[in-house]
This record gives sequence, structure tokens and C-alpha cells, in this order.
Amino acid sequence: MYGYGGKILRVNLTTGAITAFPTPENLARDFLGGRGFGIYYLYTEVPKGADPLGPANKLIASSGPLSGTPVPGAGKMDWTCKSPLTGGYASASVGGMLTAELKYAGYDSIILEGQAEKPVYLFMEDDRVELRDASHLWGLGAITTEVRLKQELGEEFQIATIGPGGENLVRYACIHHDFGRQAGRGGVGAVMGSKRLKAIAVRGTGGIQAADPKGFYQAARKMIKACKESEGLKAWQRYGTPMVVSWVQEVGALPTRNFSTGAFEEAPNLYGEAMRQKIVITDKGCFGCPSPCGKYSYTRRHGVYVEGPEYETIGMLGSDVGLGDIEDVAYANYLADELGVDTISVGGVIAFTMDCFERGIIGPQDVDGLDCRFGNREAVFTLIQKIARREGVGNLLAEGSKRAAQAWGKGAEDLAVQVKGMEVSAYECHRAPSMLLAYMTCDVGAHHNRAWAITYDIQTGRDTITPDKAARVIFLQHIRPLFDALGACRLQWVELGLDYNLYAPALQALTGVERSTEDLLRISERIWNLTRLYWIREVEGFGRAWDAPPPKFTKFPAESGPTKGQLTTWEEAQSLLDMYYAQRGWDANGFPTKAKLEELGLTEFAPY
Ligand code: SF4
Repeated sequence: MYGYGGKILRVNLTTGAITAFPTPENLARDFLGGRGFGIYYLYTEVPKGADPLGPANKLIASSGPLSGTPVPGAGKMDWTCKSPLTGGYASASVGGMLTAELKYAGYDSIILEGQAEKPVYLFMEDDRVELRDASHLWGLGAITTEVRLKQELGEEFQIATIGPGGENLVRYACIHHDFGRQAGRGGVGAVMGSKRLKAIAVRGTGGIQAADPKGFYQAARKMIKACKESEGLKAWQRYGTPMVVSWVQEVGALPTRNFSTGAFEEAPNLYGEAMRQKIVITDKGCFGCPSPCGKYSYTRRHGVYVEGPEYETIGMLGSDVGLGDIEDVAYANYLADELGVDTISVGGVIAFTMDCFERGIIGPQDVDGLDCRFGNREAVFTLIQKIARREGVGNLLAEGSKRAAQAWGKGAEDLAVQVKGMEVSAYECHRAPSMLLAYMTCDVGAHHNRAWAITYDIQTGRDTITPDKAARVIFLQHIRPLFDALGACRLQWVELGLDYNLYAPALQALTGVERSTEDLLRISERIWNLTRLYWIREVEGFGRAWDAPPPKFTKFPAESGPTKGQLTTWEEAQSLLDMYYAQRGWDANGFPTKAKLEELGLTEFAPY
């Protein structure tokens, strides 16, 4: 199969059995790769009702057909499993070098199943695949483990690892790679930890065959050239995602003090320019990236190196917890990375805790005597460590804001800014209908990367609740996750304006399979609908109520900034949902209709 590694590796952690089978051609045809392969194996192999942290759950790591090729940013890898945070579908993407190495070793995916008795790591060097003892690594931080394994095996090995957060089954633990990149969301690191798999180390020395090598080379060259000539390249490379902090503040969408407002008075200290001057020491990119957005930083105050902080971390471990010094945000970022917890969820959980504390719902006795007011950096640093180790209040907070709110009661439920149990990422939505709808309907919970729709709200007006907003969210939910099926970064399209129509000809030259952009979008829609079926199958009573907006945006008006005094009413949110369901071909409860399933070739998967 041109363009693919050609094999799928299956590792049973319970028995130690390691097998491989050819990548099915019909799977590549219908689901492309990456998150497409992930949801297919999750749906067909993990039994209904499986405990996300039990041996029946599987963790599926997948490259895509473009991974490891010269197409710009072809370094993305997807991790899919049943989520311990939401109980539904989890898929988290990570950049870096790992996915290319996996392809060069001859594999498209690794299916990790069962549960080891003792800590192990997976060693892969082309076809030499072994489970090795990891007792000397268990308990170490994620970055420390990566350093240690590179020292033991050689720099050429690419490493994915968990930290103590994953070992301790924090429901939003992440998987770490390449000294600061994370598959962050939904608790993929906790699932890896539940299997007692500390790390994966991969080295591949093979290549990737193209159906039309010359045509593919020309197509990839054209894309690289377009990136290098982009007007946006200079600023993007200089600042990376922190470039948007000033814009988000300007439009009043910077999450501040648990999403109470979108305007943070100390925001200028967190802008990309301030960060560049104060802490950035060099730029860093993923495999084959012509526009490296990673910023490698050093904070003198705290004495640590970290990749980042990038925008989401600045929002969630900066303004949302009331921290206005980029050095403090960088340190919080470092702690989360080393301890192996998602910076978005851990920031959201801490901001929620601080909100409950300031409103008197909880007191010092509930938080181990900490002064949990917004802006207290020591409280933020301490809580991250307690959560990762499940110490004291950290044991409850490791469960996520939805479960913590249920435990505290007294109105705490209204302050947990989450959808489907996942903490909302860093866009304040009091008056941003498209972005709010994107969070409500996100397939993993509430993640901006599925549909970054805030710009559409600003362009088209924040007060209109109109069908075009639902249409825009649906389009974004197909085009953006498509990149996670292809195994490439979407940011060259988003930030540099690279024409997304260039991907289909490149893929065609690579694989030899004729497909248009529309064909690829249709595959992405199939994947999206299959993830919906997974939620319906796994979550008792799943339906419209699960797409509810967080009360913070419908009950509590924005406290300041450009949207001061505004909110989105419950009725407006429901109206958006009606438009969205109708355009998707779903019924009023959010179930794909029979006609839609037939159209997408998904009838055999329907659980109803
Ligand atoms: Fe990686 Fe950033 Fe380049 Fe995307 S733009 S491939 S995230 S370095």
C-alpha cells in the first residue's frame, strides 16, 4: 500500500504477546488513518461498557498516510481510547518526531491492550519489538524519563512517555513526547498508566513508497514553497501561538478567573512579544515543519526549561487562574509537563476550585489549608503537584471539575466550565455563539482544536444566532480533524493560509488512490459520525442534554471587557443546536438519522 507503513502492531500487555497484521486496504480507503483508524478499532474492538481504566480498554496510536513525508508539518500522531474523563470518545494528537519514526519502522498503528503486572516500556527498532522492564523509570517525571531513555537507547530513538499523573490515573493525564509536546486531552495518559506502560521508544530505518514519486515530490514542494512565501510566516515563527494572546484579549475572549470575563488586566505581560523578550531562548518545530511554532523557554525566577507556554496554557494556567507573569505561567507549564497532566484541564480545574473558594462554596478546610484565591501562584503550583500525586484535595481534583463539583455541591456545578466532563479550552464564550456551539458539540468534550470558530463570530457579528454559524462549525469540524486523519499539522492552513485543496493531489500522488478534497471531507464526516455513535453506545441516556452549554456562559453575565454584562441565553444555545442537528442530518436528540448513516456507509455500526 503506497504511502502507508503497511502493518499494524498489536501488543497485549497482559500476556506479553506481540503480533502484527497488514494494514487493511478497506480501512485505509474508508477511514484514511490517524484518528480514523483510532475510532474504527475503538468501536469494533473495545467491548461496550468497558472500564476506561481497565484491561478491556485499548489505546490506539496511529500515524496517517502523510506522516513522515515531505508534506509540511507531517509529524502528527493520534492517540485514541475510551476516555476516563468523559466516559466517551477520546482522541488526542501530538506533533514531534514519533509518527515519522513509526512509519519508517513499517507500522501505521499500535494497538495497546490488556494490562501489565509490572511497569514496562515498549521497545521498537524496525521489526524488533519487545516489552522491557520499566521499574527504574516508574515514578519519574515525563521529561526526565525521555532524557533517561534517550541516554539508554540512543538519541535516534523517539520516545512517548507518561509522568506521575498517568501512573496515578489522573483522569486528564497526558502523553508526553519530544521534550514538551503532548497528546493532551481526555486522559490518554491515564489509560497508558492503567496498562502500566511507562513509555514507547521507536526507531525506524525504512522509508515510505509513493505511487508517483515525482508527482508527490512536486506537490509537496509546492506546499513548502507556499508556506515559505506566506506573509504570516515571520510573525508565526517569531511568536507561535502566543501571537494571538493580544487579539483574544482585545476581543474579550481571554478566559479570566474561571471564565468570569474575557478581559484580563495583566494580559500585556502575557503577550507574545513580552514572552519572546523575557523567556524564549530558541524556536522548535515538529518533523518536516517549515514554520516552527514551538518556543523553547527558560524562566530565571524558577530555574527551569520548558517548551512553551503556548496560547492555551497561557489562557488556562495564566489569566484563568489569575496569574499575570509569564515566568509563573512557564513554571506551571513545566510542572504540568513533567508531572504529565493536560495544561488545559488542570488549569480549568484549578480555576474552578479558586472560583468555588472565592464564592465561599468551599473553605480552607476543603483544600488542605491553601489560600486558593485567584492569582496566588503558590496555590497553583501546589495544586498541580497534589493533583498529579493524588495527595489530599488533589485526589478529588484529579477526577476533573465535573466530579469535584458533584462532590462539593452548593452551586459548584454551575461553576465547572466543562462539556461532557471535559474542561473547556481557552476561549471565553459569553457572547461567541459559533465558538460556544463548537464546544457544545465537540466530539471529545470541549476542545477548541476541532472547530476554532471564534474568528467567525468576530467577523460576522456576535449577536446573530443564524444557520450560517452552525454551518461554519460543521465545516470546521470536518476540515480540522481531517488533518488528524492525514497525520499532518493543520496550522500551515490556519496560520499561513496554505490552500487546503493542495492536500488531495499530494495524497493522490502518494497513495495512487484518486480522491478530491470533497471525498476527503466526506471521510472526515464519516469519522465524526462514528464518534457520535460511540458516545451513543457507551453513555447511558446520551443525547441532547450532553450537548448543553456550561452555565457559566448562560447564567453569569461577563463581568468586564468588550462583552461586559452579556451572555448567551439557554434558549439561544438550544436554537443553535437545532440548526446544527438539522444541518448534520441528526434528529432532535442528536442521533444521526438512518438516512445519514446510509449516506455515510455507517449503517452496520448503528447501536440503535
Ligand atoms: Fe509542529 Fe507548530 Fe510546525 Fe504545526 S506549525 S508542525 S505544531 S511546529
